[in-house]
Amino acid sequence: MWLGLATVFACLIIWAATDAITALLAFCAIVLLYLASHLYWLHKLLQWFKKPELNAMPVGSGIWEDVFSAIYYEKRRHSRSQAQISSALDRFRHAASALPDGVVLLNGNDQIEWCNPTAERQLGLSIRQDTGHPISYLVRPADFIQYLQRQDYSEPIKLKSWRVSGATLEIQLVPFGANQKLLISRDISQMEKLETMRRDFIANVSHELRTPLTVVGGFIETLTDMEGAVPESTRGYFGMMQEQTGRMRRLIEDLLTLSQLENSPEAPQETENDLSTLLNMLLHEGISLSQGEHDITLEPVEPGLFIKGAAEELHSALGNLVSNAVRYTPEGGKINLKLFLRGTEVLFSVRDTGIGIEQQHIDRLTERFYRVDRSRSRETGGTGLGLSIVKHILTRHQGYLEIESEAGKGSIFSAVLPQSRLVRKTPQQAGINA
Ligand code: ADP
Repeated sequence: MWLGLATVFACLIIWAATDAITALLAFCAIVLLYLASHLYWLHKLLQWFKKPELNAMPVGSGIWEDVFSAIYYEKRRHSRSQAQISSALDRFRHAASALPDGVVLLNGNDQIEWCNPTAERQLGLSIRQDTGHPISYLVRPADFIQYLQRQDYSEPIKLKSWRVSGATLEIQLVPFGANQKLLISRDISQMEKLETMRRDFIANVSHELRTPLTVVGGFIETLTDMEGAVPESTRGYFGMMQEQTGRMRRLIEDLLTLSQLENSPEAPQETENDLSTLLNMLLHEGISLSQGEHDITLEPVEPGLFIKGAAEELHSALGNLVSNAVRYTPEGGKINLKLFLRGTEVLFSVRDTGIGIEQQHIDRLTERFYRVDRSRSRETGGTGLGLSIVKHILTRHQGYLEIESEAGKGSIFSAVLPQSRLVRKTPQQAGINA
């Protein structure tokens, strides 16, 4: 502004000293010079932007000095925060490199953005060669590809290592940001070995105990039945011994069943089982166990319905639910067996008017040896393993157990299986298959 006033003042003096045209020419010359100086600094600024280095920043004059110094400070602040970000990134990479677990960053197209050395080792990746490549090209097992496409990453998956024989990896995907994913891989070979040892130990101990127990039980039974062999005064003790050996035998049988289920996770030998026959068998077993103490009913099952699965396992799982209903329902109670469809699922439910279960116990009922009331379970011949077996069997058939219960009112235990296991047959087809 001062420069403008000085220019006008100088031109007025020239006008007074000479004439108006000279003053106008002088004014135009000054304005042109002024414009030329702005164009010069603008050009300098554009030049600097092509290679924006702090120490090459022009100094400028007049208003341009302020402009250049403002840009200089802004650029310095930006460089500092960039240095901070890259040092934080370096620290993160260092920390991630030291992790015992493998970490792979995937972008929205499941392409590798970065991975740590553990992931390189465990998954056979190379950060130099594989960055930008889709993870599905490099981690090939079918289970992993399915997991990647499933979009449900709530549970990790286990994979046999394709690099180290006998090793097992646990892989979990964690979505974050805009469609990005974090892949975490962990070597669980040691844990798997321990778990196998534990399972083998239980299976072996149960197996070893079975024979001596059968012999002891047999002798007790023979002695009890043999006239005069057991004095009347000790007969009561023999009865107790017989009861306890029976309990131990049931416990061992259940432990062996559980070990067998755990040791063979593959899909069981499947057949098509007539549901009407199976459910009527369960009804009669329930009636015989109840010995007339309960009112047990079965809702009629549509004829020609078959369920695909391992016959013995399905019988054992559903039978367990019926026997529990009988054992945990006081005399005079009602038990209802029912088969029905719900969405894409088929349910076999056992409803009883028994003692029920308080809510806080429900989630834990399928744990081994978890009992709400130990003494009641023992009194009724329970082992505490029944629901654990049911859960295993249903899982092997892609199903699950659903429990609704209210203490003092009763319970509904439902075995839920996918409807794809249900087969409808005409009487002719059923006859041919029977
Ligand atoms: P148990 O051999 O003790 O019956 P289970 O695994 O079959 O073992 O059942 C676990 C526990 O769940 C039982 O001890 C009992 O407390 C409870 N439970 C199972 N079924 C019922 C039922 N129908 N009504 C009430 N409680 C039940």
